[in-house]
Amino acid sequence: MLRSSQPLMCQRRDAFEFWKWTFHSGDPVKRDIRPAALLLVVICISLALLTAWQIWSARQRTLQDINTDNRNLVQALDTYSEGVIKQCELLLLGLVERVETEGHGPDQLKRLRELTDRQQHLLSQLNSILLFDAKGDWLLSSNGPIPPHANSADRAFFIHHRDNPSRAIFIGPPIRSRSNGQWVITVSRRINDDNGNFAGVAVVTLDIDNFLSLFGRLDVGRFGAMSLTNTNGQMLVRYPLREQDIGRDLSDSPIFTQYLKQANEGSASMVSRLDGVERLYAFRRNDQFPLVITVALGLDEALSTWRSGAELFAGVVLALLVTIGVIGQRLILDIQGRIRTKQQLLAAREDLLKANERLEVLASQDPLTGLANRRCFDERLSSEFRRASREGTPLSLLLIDIDYFKRYNDTYGHVAGDECLKAVSRLLRDCAKRPGDLAVRYGGEELALILPNTDASGARAVAGLFLESLNQCGLAHNASPFGIVTASLGSASVSGYGAPGGELALIDAADRALYQAKEAGRNQLRSAAPEDV
Ligand code: GH3
Ligand code: MG
Ligand code: MG
Repeated sequence: MLRSSQPLMCQRRDAFEFWKWTFHSGDPVKRDIRPAALLLVVICISLALLTAWQIWSARQRTLQDINTDNRNLVQALDTYSEGVIKQCELLLLGLVERVETEGHGPDQLKRLRELTDRQQHLLSQLNSILLFDAKGDWLLSSNGPIPPHANSADRAFFIHHRDNPSRAIFIGPPIRSRSNGQWVITVSRRINDDNGNFAGVAVVTLDIDNFLSLFGRLDVGRFGAMSLTNTNGQMLVRYPLREQDIGRDLSDSPIFTQYLKQANEGSASMVSRLDGVERLYAFRRNDQFPLVITVALGLDEALSTWRSGAELFAGVVLALLVTIGVIGQRLILDIQGRIRTKQQLLAAREDLLKANERLEVLASQDPLTGLANRRCFDERLSSEFRRASREGTPLSLLLIDIDYFKRYNDTYGHVAGDECLKAVSRLLRDCAKRPGDLAVRYGGEELALILPNTDASGARAVAGLFLESLNQCGLAHNASPFGIVTASLGSASVSGYGAPGGELALIDAADRALYQAKEAGRNQLRSAAPEDV
């Protein structure tokens, strides 16, 4: 039994013992309480499973929502980046066209300078517009005077266009601007001479800070990250900014080696190689430019709302389960107590009935001979007499008295006398063959036999049978002239509708007949005449 004052370990052990007893002991009571205990266990397990399923499906829904939000954000950033690069492309197209048709003499460069000054303010992300000749020397910079001997032949964009005849734009890796020292992304286009040979490069540089300030306005949490890479996996911009990540090669990350090979956009969950945080990623490759946008949310952070809800839910269900368990256990103990009480009551009732039966037998039985006693004789004779009178059936009574019994006692002792009395009683009982016949110890060494539905001749037959079996038995009685134990019998019968003197007259007549048998020499039967009854 659980009590709040008990130590916790004790309660646990009690509960454990209780359930062990319920399902493993051989106690018969457990059969009655097992269905209730089983129902309780099924309810608890179902509740626990339902809760686990509910928590799991809530987690899946949360992940789905996060994925949808991430993909929408990726789509928006992709559109934004594409717009910026497209504007750069348009700008470069006009610039290159002009240089190729008009050349880059001092006059032409002056007019181009005026043009780029005006264009600089139209695109806020723009850091600078630059022109280089075929050797990489600076021809024009929208950021002010050209530094002396400035040459960019070593830059990736220059090497790319010099060695590649394509007229498509090239988005280069981030570099530190040589004109103002800021981190920039280069968008560049090749300039050809009239013969189609390499004649220089036109470059637009984009401020990384501009991208970062846009990314920074979007809430992706403390562990969220957004990045812009080229399709070769080279990091262009990452928010939050870590200088060591700028230009980093991510081409061997699963997004590039696996996911982007299967689809242009998608989502995945993985551990970042940059900071070791597990994140939910959404990515998209731009349709027109070699750009990849990635948005990622920290998995733990993104699931924190779900987790706190799940913990609360699980806590409430656990408390509910404990309550159900405790109440259920008490109910079962209560049922068990009731069953035990009922069983004890039934057993007590059974004992009482048996005791009553024993008492009844004792009240109507003679303890020495086992025959019916005098009280029983009186009741039975009275009821049989009334039945005989009512139904008009005959009724006979035999009175039996052992001959010379006093002498027997004197010769063999009282204990032997008792044994003799028992033996004679057994013989008499054997003669009472019909179910209604009743052998009785009438008193002392006198016995009686009530024979319902038996007339005088029937009574004579039964008496004859008894006398014969007693003689055949030959119980030694040296003090008797017969040498063996004998008895004298007196019988009286009523037939038809009773006798005026009632059952006492019947007894009296039988007694008188018995006396006559004694008088006539004993060891014989005398029957009362019908008129004597
Ligand atoms: P008879 O009937 O032949 O005239 O002689 P009797 O000796 O049997 O006559 P009586 O009725 O005078 O004696 C009955 C004796 O039966 C007296 C008593 O010693 C004996 N007796 C009566 N009840 C019991 C008993 O329960 N046990 C024993 N051992 N003897 C009993
Ligand atoms: Mg007697
Ligand atoms: Mg006698």
